[in-house]
Amino acid sequence: MSLNNGAALNVVMLGPPGAGKGTQAERFARRHGVPKISTGDILREAVAAATELGRVARETMETGNLVGDDVMIGIVEERLGRADAARGFVLDGFPRTVVQASALDRMMNARGKLVVVEIVVPEDVLVRRLAARRICSVCGANAPVEWTTTCGKCGGALVQRTDDGDGIVRERLKVYHRQTKPLVDYYSGRPTFKTIDGNHPPNEVTAALDQAICQASVASRQVRR
Ligand SMILES: [Zn+2]
Repeated sequence: MSLNNGAALNVVMLGPPGAGKGTQAERFARRHGVPKISTGDILREAVAAATELGRVARETMETGNLVGDDVMIGIVEERLGRADAARGFVLDGFPRTVVQASALDRMMNARGKLVVVEIVVPEDVLVRRLAARRICSVCGANAPVEWTTTCGKCGGALVQRTDDGDGIVRERLKVYHRQTKPLVDYYSGRPTFKTIDGNHPPNEVTAALDQAICQASVASRQVRR
């Protein structure tokens, strides 16, 4: 199923670490010709480029804090205003708070409905997946299963991510659920909020997401008319 009548596809993807959210967001974005907007990537790029935003973000993160709502909202508003996002977007990593979510709703006023999908995977499966995850020790690339010991991009050795140990993973999942519960509560009464079972092979999850998002988008358009 795809949309071809020019309606915008405004999508937020939620999901715990290990749920495959980044990969799925990228696939959906590519398939529908909308940008995947990851606030983590934007912050990392800003830090690397030493912009004013990067300076603020780096100082905040160095003190162990999350970058504040105002800064994050400003980043997303600016990014959504660019031409490539006119037909829609897939947001990954935003919103993280109810304040950010309601700011995003205000930005949607003139853009049409927002579809929110949460990819759900049982905790034990996530812990197993994350423990098996490897990254390149040289260039930091995420290793797909085909790379067994060395990086397919630069030949560097593959290592386990330092934050993928069992105890740390369970703690990260706890933090995720604590932070995300208010967001899910905020969105869950809407017909455009969808839960996707992520405990399936990636291609099946891709298909389920595609169907859910396109249906929600079409349904919301009919309601609006
Ligand atoms: Zn590498």
